[in-house]
Amino acid sequence: MARTATTAPAPAARDEGQWALGSREPLNANERVKHVEDPLLVRERIERVYVRTGFAGIDPDDLRNRFRWWGLYTQRRPGIDGGGTAVLPPEELDDEYFMLRVRVDGGRLDLAQLRAIAEVSTRYARDTADITDRQNIQFHWIRVEDMPDIWRILEAAGLSTTEACGDCPRVVLGSPVAGVSAAEVLDATPAIEEITARWIGDPSLSNLPRKFKSTISWLADVPYEANDIAFVGVVHPEHGPGFDLRVGGGLSTSPMLAQRLGTFVPLADVPDVWLGVIRLFRDYGYRRLRHRARLKFLVADWGSERFRRVLEEEYLGRPLADGPAPELPPAPIDHIGVHRQRDGRYYVGAAPVVGRVSGTALAELATIAERHGSGRIRLTPYQKLLVLDVADPAPLVADLRGIGLEAEPSPFRRATMACTGIEYCKLAIVETKGRAVTLVAELERRLAGLPVEISVNLNGCPNACARTQVADIGLKGQLVVDESGRRVEGFQVHLGGGLTMAAGQEGGFGRKLRGLKTTAADLPDYVERLARRYHAGRTGPA
Ligand code: SF4
Repeated sequence: MARTATTAPAPAARDEGQWALGSREPLNANERVKHVEDPLLVRERIERVYVRTGFAGIDPDDLRNRFRWWGLYTQRRPGIDGGGTAVLPPEELDDEYFMLRVRVDGGRLDLAQLRAIAEVSTRYARDTADITDRQNIQFHWIRVEDMPDIWRILEAAGLSTTEACGDCPRVVLGSPVAGVSAAEVLDATPAIEEITARWIGDPSLSNLPRKFKSTISWLADVPYEANDIAFVGVVHPEHGPGFDLRVGGGLSTSPMLAQRLGTFVPLADVPDVWLGVIRLFRDYGYRRLRHRARLKFLVADWGSERFRRVLEEEYLGRPLADGPAPELPPAPIDHIGVHRQRDGRYYVGAAPVVGRVSGTALAELATIAERHGSGRIRLTPYQKLLVLDVADPAPLVADLRGIGLEAEPSPFRRATMACTGIEYCKLAIVETKGRAVTLVAELERRLAGLPVEISVNLNGCPNACARTQVADIGLKGQLVVDESGRRVEGFQVHLGGGLTMAAGQEGGFGRKLRGLKTTAADLPDYVERLARRYHAGRTGPA
């Protein structure tokens, strides 16, 4: 007897919480908090209620979620080591002080803004100030009671903490030399200004599946490949200068470089295309699992062709022009040193050690810049800063050195970055900033005169805030077992380019090398060995 063919029902696709597919019920705790109330509204509660109750009166959902939309994170309670990070409940990791992030879109600061930052640092933040690898400034030791005064000082100078953290559009990275570089063909600043003026703090974009990181720069002097959206300058053979569009970059635990969509975007269209992409992310992004909610997972599942089609058809209502790929520099551009501007004056790029400065130093920087005829400072995404518009740079270089900002740094100081680490970050497993300072000093002493330039990025956990995977030596904090069998702070090592060969491994960029770990105590020895081997490999036997 012939059997009747049956069609098995297709398995139901898993509900990923995508709004565009009708999934509006929150599928996890973070989504519930955003669903209950727009996180931006917490500011009113901070100014009216928490300023009186202090830390003890803060609702936990506000404390650990909504506060972020105003740049506030609880900092780590001192004295808890990396072993406590994974096992202690959040309330035991919370200190009653906050980290506060100030967004500096495009890294652009005038002297009044610099002085406002210095004032907040010295009055309310125990003189702390870090330049982050996303052109932000971060303070520590902030009390909730002081937030109204802090906002008053910052906002009077045109600065903001709005959406500096949280599931929303974060600071927009831009070239630190936008508008002054002789190599720049098109200044992207108008697009950055339009986006920040129109869309930062807009409630229609304040509930995204996760954070949304942007970069818009003619020069590829920002880490465009690690952002959710990146516009990089390119000249189209018919349309002239404009931007190549990439989407879906992100590092952390499932790193993916941003993918080209093969489109050409004129400068005037950048804000609309940015808006289209962020709306697409809001509507189609995955909201079920936090660790799969970044845009890169949607781009990976859809592919760039489908992503472009949905963007054009559902969000822009028109096709984008095809465009060529830009020429990209072989190595990051950090702008350290003295450089001529296109107007004939100079800019000077100077390096603090791993981005750590202070309010006192920033106030002195404002005085020095003014004395040398400059009214403009830029922050870079490599934890450095630039003084623009100087007629005679040599005396400025000397004055900067006097406040710990080095325009002629050693290669190690120049190319070492570190995330916040266990000193303040609740997710950290190991200490980073202090270790990086020691590492730089040790390498300067041990390898003085050795012509190797290698970048070292220290990260306190797998989240890769200091971009583990795109350094020559990327270090991911974890507990490791030392020679005597004790669990101690250490790092898993990612090696890039020629350094993989120096370690006796197959070459490859930013590869996590299985089994390659070092204790934190051995880190200077480890990096020294690697640098010497790398140098010997390049130069051959003497
Ligand atoms: Fe904190 Fe980890 Fe980011 Fe470092 S990489 S700042 S430890 S979350």
